[in-house]
Amino acid sequence: MDTSETTVEICTVCRKTTRGGFQLQTSTDKSGMPVIAVIPTPDRDFNVCDFCNEVVHFRCSERPDSGCCNACFEVDPKIQTIG
Ligand SMILES: [Zn+2]
Ligand SMILES: [Zn+2]
Repeated sequence: MDTSETTVEICTVCRKTTRGGFQLQTSTDKSGMPVIAVIPTPDRDFNVCDFCNEVVHFRCSERPDSGCCNACFEVDPKIQTIG
C-alpha cells in the first residue's frame, strides 16, 4: 500500500507556500509488523517546529538546524543548547 502524499504548507514567516513535504512510507519488519516511517522529500524547503508545529522555510528560519521556529528559539533558552 502506498500512502505517500504531500500537502502544501504555508510558511508562517513569509506567508508563501513551501515545497516538498513528508511522505509516509509503510513497510513491515522482520516479524511482519507494519512499520510507518515519516520521510522528508528531497525537495523539502521548510521545517515544522518541534514545539508548536509552525511551518517555517529554511531560508526564513534563523536556526534551521534547531528544528524549531524563530519564536520558540527566542523564547526557550533550552532550545538554544541543541546543536
Ligand atoms: Zn518563508
Ligand atoms: Zn515554534
